[in-house]
Amino acid sequence: MFRRIALVLTLSGAVVLPGFQRAPVAAQARPAAIAPSVDSIPRAIRRDVPLTNSIRRAFDAGTRDYSGRPGPNYWQLQADYSINARLDPATHTITGTETITLHNNSPEELTEIVLRLDHNIYRGLVPRGFSVPAENTDGMIVTAVSVNGEAVDLAARPAGGRGRGGRGGNAPRTLAVSGLDQTVARISLSTPVAAKSTAKLDIAWRTKLPGGPNGRGHRMTQRWDDTLFQPTQWFPRVAKFDDLRGWDRSVYLGPAEFYNNFGRFDVRIDVPGGWIVSGTGVLQNAQDVLTANARERLARVLDSDDVITIVGEDEVGPGRSTAAGERLVWHFVADMVNDFAWAASKNYVWRATRATIPGKGPIPIHMVHLPDRARLFANAGPITRHALEFYSRLWSPYPFPQLTLQDGPSAGMEYPMVINSNQGAADHEAAHQWWPMMVGTNETLYGWMDEGFNQYMNILSDADAEGTVPNLNRLGQSYGRTSGNEDEPPMMWAANHAGSMYGFQTYSKTPLMLSMLGGIVGDDAVQRAMSEYTKVWSFKHPSPWDYIFFMNDALGQDLNWFWYYWLWTTESVNGSIAGVSTAGSRTTVTVRQDGQMPSPVVLKVQFAAEGPAIEPMANAKMVDDTTALLTWPVDVWFNGSRMFDATLDFGGRPITTITLDPGCRFPDRDPGDNVWSDTGAAPTGPASGTNAAACAG
Ligand SMILES: [Zn+2]
Repeated sequence: MFRRIALVLTLSGAVVLPGFQRAPVAAQARPAAIAPSVDSIPRAIRRDVPLTNSIRRAFDAGTRDYSGRPGPNYWQLQADYSINARLDPATHTITGTETITLHNNSPEELTEIVLRLDHNIYRGLVPRGFSVPAENTDGMIVTAVSVNGEAVDLAARPAGGRGRGGRGGNAPRTLAVSGLDQTVARISLSTPVAAKSTAKLDIAWRTKLPGGPNGRGHRMTQRWDDTLFQPTQWFPRVAKFDDLRGWDRSVYLGPAEFYNNFGRFDVRIDVPGGWIVSGTGVLQNAQDVLTANARERLARVLDSDDVITIVGEDEVGPGRSTAAGERLVWHFVADMVNDFAWAASKNYVWRATRATIPGKGPIPIHMVHLPDRARLFANAGPITRHALEFYSRLWSPYPFPQLTLQDGPSAGMEYPMVINSNQGAADHEAAHQWWPMMVGTNETLYGWMDEGFNQYMNILSDADAEGTVPNLNRLGQSYGRTSGNEDEPPMMWAANHAGSMYGFQTYSKTPLMLSMLGGIVGDDAVQRAMSEYTKVWSFKHPSPWDYIFFMNDALGQDLNWFWYYWLWTTESVNGSIAGVSTAGSRTTVTVRQDGQMPSPVVLKVQFAAEGPAIEPMANAKMVDDTTALLTWPVDVWFNGSRMFDATLDFGGRPITTITLDPGCRFPDRDPGDNVWSDTGAAPTGPASGTNAAACAG
């Protein structure tokens, strides 16, 4: 999903007023309150990451391990869907039947099956986040459910409740369902699904797509009048059952996103003749639903980077925009995806171009939009082509056979092979094909592994598109201005419940974290490691611990201290130069860290143009003839002191300026105290230091 959030937030940044002085306090008789002094209390630096019961269980079972790769016993369920859906534009309703083949690849028998019924968020009385539907509906109305051929009595109350004792452990199991009016429902089974076996669910349902002018939040408006429909999360689906927590029972609140099974989708969509349908997967029956003209034009899409019109705005109605017929059934198949979205309109223009995927060759990019919104799609083809080609090189080749941009009320949302986006969010939404469409992260809990990584890769893509070098400086440092805001949840707090700073937690903070990581190991190393991570976890479901341990392994460093402070806390570094003294050829720089998060010590040393030869130092590299960059590892803080004396001995050449964290990578509330110069003038504020202006370490 796309949100307009500046990468560097200035949320409640501490404002330092020049010349501000604390007002004198009148002498008081009672003893002074005990204020903790950062000088007298050693700083205990945590150097491991918390392991929750769920990840410990996975380690014990061998499904995951400290290598950060899938463990020898890794498993995941697969859910294959065969869906028949019929759109009735007059009533704004989809009526559908589906068969779900659930492959229980787990070593456990399933005594229940949890269903996700996201469209129940449109009912008036279910819990919601900040999302408000454009229209309240009756939600997802499930009219029939059967499991392995046995019908569920939808009117019966389930006997007992899970974990509540019910009528006693010896009562016979009965097939029953509860929660059909909620976003999460539960089928309790009379016969469990055995480990390593398969179950078949047959479900019939209908749902009205909400429209109108008042929706707030993505996916809350799914149609324009009765002429354009953009159905998402539109069919009952099986929730995730995984090795970490068993069934995922997180309710759907609107803003945070999904955690879905991979599987094969075979979908038939029945719409009026003349309506163009786009969707996840590959159209199987072009000869039944398209005109000969459209099929001939489609055959030329992969020949060049030109944007080709498949169905023009002057081609409207059955026999002109589509094959003839009162109703047409469009048949799509997608082999391995974690969702299925589509759109249909009687007015769509259909254009297409191509992207050339490294190691794979050209694939089509389709665009369907209303004729009067053509300007919003004028550059969509080239932008999407660049995104698919760039991200293929950055992480791993785009794995799907096509990508489609769909016009409609939801403009900034992603599904496998489908982005509900015009050119404005095309780069960001195309990037989601890697996260979470390939790497199936649990977005409901860990949105940063999806939206956060996406924000980071968008910076790289933007720079590449402009032919410039991406500038990740300053991002890490900027977090120092947000740190301390009581509204900020740590990144490991469930995104579904992240509150008013959900956008910062889920989207904006990750590029800041990865900026600091690049400041420690180098941006190229970060990107190489994440490319390997993408490949290793493609079409699987990594947890944050898998990511953390994978990155430690790939980067060859124990960075658990780094992950702990960024992911589990809202702390920052707040470094400064506390003093500089020179004796003979040696200069001692006293560096201080007031925050709880440690960082390596990086100093940029500027020498005078004249003087004794500059001698080499082991931890220094010369940037140019008169500039050296020195690094001490984070370990210098592990003794608990907040002060570190960095000793420079370059042979006596006078030093004119010393800058702490010259790349602006480490969270700092006030970068103005990071610069020392030999003029004797103390740094006076962020604007005065060359550091704040330059950030080029
Ligand atoms: Zn997004």
